[in-house]
Amino acid sequence: MGDVDLGASGLGPAEGRKFGWWRPRGPRAGRDASALRRRLAAPGVVVVLALLTLGAVLVSVGVGYEIARHSDEKLVAEQRQALRNATSEIRTMFAHGRDIDPRFVRMIEQSARLKGLTFEITPPDDDREFQPVIDGDGRIAGFFTWERTAPTTAAMSALTPYLAALIVALIAFAAFSLWHLRRAARKVCDSEALARRAADQDKLTGLPNHAKIVELLDLALAERAPGETTTFVVFELDGMADVSSNFGVLGSDELIVAVADRIREAAPAGAICGRIGSDEFALLLTADDGADVDAIVAAVIESIARPHWFDTVVRVSAHAGFAQAPHHAATRGELTRRAELALRAAAKKGPGSRVSFDAQLDTVSADQKFIQRELPRAVSAHELELHYQPIISAHGGRIVGVEALLRWTHAVRGPIGPAVFIPIAEQMGLMDTIGAFVLRRALQETKRWPDLYVAVNLSPLQVRDGSIVEMVRSALEDTGVSPSRLMLEITEGVLIDNPDEMVRRIEDLHALGVRVALDDFGSGYSNLGYLQRFPLDKLKIDRSFVTALGNTANGGVIIQAIVALGRALGLSILVEGVETEQQRVLLRLAGCDEMQGFLFARPAPAATIDRLLEQQKQGGGKVLPGTDVEAATAGKLSA
Ligand code: C2E
Ligand code: MG
Ligand code: MG
Repeated sequence: MGDVDLGASGLGPAEGRKFGWWRPRGPRAGRDASALRRRLAAPGVVVVLALLTLGAVLVSVGVGYEIARHSDEKLVAEQRQALRNATSEIRTMFAHGRDIDPRFVRMIEQSARLKGLTFEITPPDDDREFQPVIDGDGRIAGFFTWERTAPTTAAMSALTPYLAALIVALIAFAAFSLWHLRRAARKVCDSEALARRAADQDKLTGLPNHAKIVELLDLALAERAPGETTTFVVFELDGMADVSSNFGVLGSDELIVAVADRIREAAPAGAICGRIGSDEFALLLTADDGADVDAIVAAVIESIARPHWFDTVVRVSAHAGFAQAPHHAATRGELTRRAELALRAAAKKGPGSRVSFDAQLDTVSADQKFIQRELPRAVSAHELELHYQPIISAHGGRIVGVEALLRWTHAVRGPIGPAVFIPIAEQMGLMDTIGAFVLRRALQETKRWPDLYVAVNLSPLQVRDGSIVEMVRSALEDTGVSPSRLMLEITEGVLIDNPDEMVRRIEDLHALGVRVALDDFGSGYSNLGYLQRFPLDKLKIDRSFVTALGNTANGGVIIQAIVALGRALGLSILVEGVETEQQRVLLRLAGCDEMQGFLFARPAPAATIDRLLEQQKQGGGKVLPGTDVEAATAGKLSA
């Protein structure tokens, strides 16, 4: 077995040895075809085959002739014997020096199966066969003479030219077949090598792809020597969505290639880099225990973060998570899973951070396992229900709508937040069922509040699935709620992933008469530029901006800018997470249209909304905390 081709990772086995990393062995795939080709390709094989054929043919012809000669000699001996028998029985008929009756000669000729038999007094002086004839007195009476015949040899000679031609044709055919076979084997081999490379390599960067990294990781773990550590590092790039919206697909491809080069350069010799996802890279290190892996990971992150020079300067950062065998895991599955857990933890810490796996991280996944186990049961046992959070008009402070929010109260665990279980429901393929339940239940319950609109959250998976339009249409039809009262909330990520399709999807929803809001605006990509591409109705500014209000010097300015831009695009502006009176006042001054937050009301069951609406009616319109305070604090906005 040869060394594995590390392809564009550019790491030769020698470098691997130098650094003391492990050196993987070659894959099995393709060995058979290569061996076949080698065997067929050897020139000696062709010559030996041809000579062997020729030799075999010559020997066969020689043997054939020998057999024919033998058979002919046997025939002659038999003829002589037959002649001798015939003459000895009738020797008294012969007399010295006298001819015999030619009819008698013909008879003997036939019985001895001879050709041209004659009786002569003297022996022939040519090469004819002859045999003396002894008379009754024991004297030579004369000679029987006949023509020598060799029928088998003659037949053999007649056949030889045809046989020779046949042999030449056979050799030519064999040579052609061999040549053809070699060509076919070479083609198979070449295309197999190509396919293998394509299957192992990431097209864009030339790095080993996900499947190859898995294979190499298996090998690394299998060959890990005592006292060595195998580390699996996963890097995820931050802000690639911004890059693609600013520079397009080609721009982000260029950046990915540049990042791959940076990782290769910063990684120690012998380390294996791969691209395992659109924004994810992996590094595979096997080193002596105690090697400073953390420093290596830090160096790679730092090198990615250095400015990239294209037509303009582009910056991209990365975070990383890693796990090590044997300290954190023994098997590949466990190692990669734990590296992913560390990666998620690093993502939470923010761009540029790195996290080594820690047992504590796995408690999160114990929770996940619990949810995975319990959620399907909860769905079928109707344990999920909806709460509603009022949406308040910034002018006048009245409740104008409600947002439907999923609630799951587990009998033992208590409440489990939607932000926790919805991603798991998505992974488990339960979101269709849950999404349909939420929409129908929300529409059904909203009939109690004919003056309000209801906002329903859609998960990215639901939005990507084209059948959402039909699902919304049939839910509206079945419940009889006017489409204008339904506001669907989608998130930024889903727009960026597939903008063209999303534009069409939103248009299809508009065609039903429903409105579409962009939820959590600013929580992810904060890219104002792409907003104009999508035919949205409402912008829901994420509560992180509200938190910044009053805390940071420019918090208000940012909100003001977003509100101004949203207005310019003809969008209605809602601000989420309003918790204090000061925030409310500042936001109102900033010009937003609607607000939502704990200051006014927490999400609550439908009956609570009934009560609030009743109180609102009785109280002349203003019942929620903060809605009756009109402290105009102009000028404080950017404080
Ligand atoms: P979201 O759509 O942005 O919903 C608003 C979240 O902010 C809710 O959290 C709400 O309880 C919380 N919130 C409202 N006002 C305040 C405030 O003043 N301060 C603070 N700190 N939080 C406030 P919740 O109910 O835990 O929902 C979290 C997320 O889960 C939602 O964010 C939404 O993305 C998702 N979600 C909830 N229900 C559904 C659903 O039925 N379908 C889908 N696909 N996602 C849902
Ligand atoms: Mg929402
Ligand atoms: Mg939100």
